[in-house]
Amino acid sequence: MICDRCGEEMRFTEKDTSSGRDIREYLCPGCGYSDWEVYGTAMWQILSDDREEWEREETERDTDGMPAEDRQSLAGSAWERIRAFFRKERQ
Ligand SMILES: [Zn+2]
Repeated sequence: MICDRCGEEMRFTEKDTSSGRDIREYLCPGCGYSDWEVYGTAMWQILSDDREEWEREETERDTDGMPAEDRQSLAGSAWERIRAFFRKERQ
């Protein structure tokens, strides 16, 4: 961030995310002028939003998926195939 008063590169001094927004304070080393910038949503809020989204997708995937019986018969047929494979091996 460039100082409005003297045009020097300002030094980042403080970050405040307590309000849920990422507010960054800067101080000019040249003239002592301080300013702040809002960086939109704070990182912790983005992360918690992502997690909620992910959890929602996980639940949707579960209910959208096959009925429990289908899943069981699929597992059963896989097991049958494995058993058949070993039966064949023994012969
Ligand atoms: Zn300045």
